[in-house]
Amino acid sequence: MKELIQKLVEAWGPSGYEHHVRQLIQDEVRELADEITVDPLGNLICRLGSSGPKVMVATHMDEIGVMITYAEPNSGYLRFTGIGGLLNTTLAGSRVRFENGTVGVIGMPDPFGTGRMTAPELEEFYIDVSDGSATSPVSPGTPATFWRPLETRGSRLIAKAMDDRIACAIAIESLRRLKALKKKARPNQVYFVFTVQEEVGLRGARTAAYGVNPDVAIALDVTHTGDMIKNEKMAVKLGGGAAIKIHDPGLVVPPAVRDWMVERAQADGIPYQLELLTGGSTDAAAIQTARAGVPSGCISIPTRFIHTTSETVDTGDVEACTRLLTGLLSNAAPF
Ligand SMILES: [Zn+2]
Repeated sequence: MKELIQKLVEAWGPSGYEHHVRQLIQDEVRELADEITVDPLGNLICRLGSSGPKVMVATHMDEIGVMITYAEPNSGYLRFTGIGGLLNTTLAGSRVRFENGTVGVIGMPDPFGTGRMTAPELEEFYIDVSDGSATSPVSPGTPATFWRPLETRGSRLIAKAMDDRIACAIAIESLRRLKALKKKARPNQVYFVFTVQEEVGLRGARTAAYGVNPDVAIALDVTHTGDMIKNEKMAVKLGGGAAIKIHDPGLVVPPAVRDWMVERAQADGIPYQLELLTGGSTDAAAIQTARAGVPSGCISIPTRFIHTTSETVDTGDVEACTRLLTGLLSNAAPF
């Protein structure tokens, strides 16, 4: 699974430009799903099974990035705006990569003066794409993602875009495990939906949920951990197992969905922890209000340093999340 994770996290796909990631996932699931469609917004929808409760699983393909807004004349410097929630304190010296392969470096004014203590506004940063020639390899209107390759440290995996490609990997692996089961061990119609534009407002999940019209939905996404220095009071820790969401600012998980997940984790002996998140939300927040409403929950992957190029997960948690998802999908959903 590590090879798949590496391919996914190193793929290029800022919000609205998920085509490379979608192609990669399509190649992985082609032999596994009964039907594969791409909806008008670009969501990749993979169905397995044709009877029983309709369960939608949502993982987002897009990642945060930048959009070039203006080229400073004759300099190779580009101004940009954010795609998704950038953290200004992490930008200086970061590398971004354009679709044509150009790698740029982010600079800021006065980094050893005022910039030493506080990050400036986004408009003050710039990207150096100069290559020694007189022309710029990139023009305004071009998006980029942050760039770092995957690193491994013991059971930890460190990469950009773990948010949410680690969940895409879990969904693909779960589809693989389900497909390997006998047909009667697959009592649900499962729609694995790889969504677009989550980081800019849960846009893909909203239309996909309307199209799929599920009986119940599970989003998989990263969540913060409370085990970092001076971190908020939060019980989730790295290596503590799959995090079952109870509440975040965009979603109150219905107790029936929460219990469905907790009871499955207990029955299958899967390590789990309960997640109470006070900032941020997931695709489940959009899915729950589709049509007449969809009971929705979330399996979260504990992750350190979210929205940096060093999002860190633990392989034990990844396996726990994969087992929990597969366990839920291979038993008839009570919805
Ligand atoms: Zn995410």
